[in-house]
Amino acid sequence: MDARHGKSVPYVISDEVAKTYETLLADVQVKAALQFTEWDHQTTIEDQIRITEIPAPPFMEETRKLYYQACLEGLGLQDVTTDAEGNVFGVRKGSGNGPRIFVSAHLDTVFPEGTDTTVKERDGILYAPGIADDGRGLAVTLAVLRALNHANIQTQGDIIFGATVGEEGLGDLRGVKAFFRDHHVDGFISIEPDSPARVTYLATGSHRYRITYHGPGGHSFGAFGIPSAIHAMGRAIAMISDITVPEVPKTTFTVGTVSGGTSVNTIAAEAQMMIDMRSNSEQALLQLEEEVLRRVRQAAQEENKRWNSDAITIHIELVGNRPAGSQSSDAIIVQAALASAKAIGFEPTLDGPSSTDSNVPISLGIPAVTLGGGGQCGGLHTLQEFYDPTDGHYGVQKVLLTVLGLVGVKDVSDPLLKPTK
Ligand SMILES: [Zn+2]
Repeated sequence: MDARHGKSVPYVISDEVAKTYETLLADVQVKAALQFTEWDHQTTIEDQIRITEIPAPPFMEETRKLYYQACLEGLGLQDVTTDAEGNVFGVRKGSGNGPRIFVSAHLDTVFPEGTDTTVKERDGILYAPGIADDGRGLAVTLAVLRALNHANIQTQGDIIFGATVGEEGLGDLRGVKAFFRDHHVDGFISIEPDSPARVTYLATGSHRYRITYHGPGGHSFGAFGIPSAIHAMGRAIAMISDITVPEVPKTTFTVGTVSGGTSVNTIAAEAQMMIDMRSNSEQALLQLEEEVLRRVRQAAQEENKRWNSDAITIHIELVGNRPAGSQSSDAIIVQAALASAKAIGFEPTLDGPSSTDSNVPISLGIPAVTLGGGGQCGGLHTLQEFYDPTDGHYGVQKVLLTVLGLVGVKDVSDPLLKPTK
C-alpha cells in the first residue's frame, strides 16, 4: 500500500444496492457467516502471525507463496495454481451465470532480505515488519473463504481467492499486471490493512525513470573545452524544475536522487538521476512524461552545442510504471463496498487516490476496489510496524459482504455486478 492522499468525498448507495444488502443481511446463512468471523477472529490472527513470520522481500516471495498455496488448498479451493510471475490463486465455483471476481492480498513486503519478521506482542498489540501490510490482507482473504465454507454459502458467481507478488516499490505491480494479462475477471478486490470504513477506488499512477548522461570525461584544466555529463544533467534538472503541471488531476514530479562524477577536478564522464512522476490521470501522466523526456534530451543538446561537440549521450530507463485510472464513485463495486461498511455499523468513507494492486484493473476499465482488512495499524513500511487486532473481524465481514453483494447468493440475491463476457 502506498501513501493515501485527499479527503473523503460524498457517496451514493442506490435503492437496488440497499435492497440487495437488506436481503443478504436477513438471510440465515449470511448471518451464520458473519457470526462465524467473530468466532474465527483468533484463527485469523494466528494466520496473520504465521504468514508475517515467513519473510517475503521484494522479488523473493516464493517461500511465503508456497505456504499460502497450502492454506488455499487446505480450504478446499479448486485448481489452486501458481503462475509464471509467482502469483497463487484458486477458484471457489459459483452456481453459474454470475460474474467472476478476484479477491486478493499481496505476498511481498518492502523489507529487504535479512529483516527480522518475528512477531512480538505487547499489551495486545502485535509488532513486526509487514504484520499489517499485507499480513492482515493475506489473513483476511483466508478468513473470508473460511466463513463462506462454514456457512456453506453457494454464490452465483465464481470467486477466485489468491495472493499477488510485487505490489510494493520496484515490484511495480508485476503480479497483478501478469494476472490481468492472462485472465478475464469482472471485478477485483484487493485487501490491505486499514479500517473497514475505507474504500479506495481511484488509482494514482506513477512513472519512474533512471536517466544517465555519458560524456568523454577529462582533466578539469587539461581537457577543458569538452562537455560534461554533470553539466548536461544540471541543465536538465533546471529545465525540469520549471515544468508546470495541473493541480486537478493532481500531477507531480521530482528529481529524487542524483549521483555522478569522479573527483572535483575531473570533467564528469557520467551523471545519473532518478525521476518520479505521478498523476491521478493516465493522460496527464503521459503528457508530463513526454515533457520531462523532451527536456532531458534538450539538455544534452545544449551542453553539446555549448562546446561544439556531440559527445554527450543519454541512457533512459523506465524503472517504474504504475498505471493511473479512475472510476465513478457510484460504480456498482464502490456502492457494494460502501453499503457493506454501513451494514456492519461503520460510516463509510471514499478515499482519495492511492497506488495499490487495484491500479491495474482500474486502468483497464475493470471494476476494482481496495478495502481495509479491519483492526488498527501504524508504522507501515517501517521496522516499527504494528497491528492492533481489536474488532478486526469487522474487516472480514466488510469484505465478505462486498463479495456476496457482487457475485450474488443462490436463491437469495442476484449479483450486483454484471458479467462482461
Ligand atoms: Zn500493501
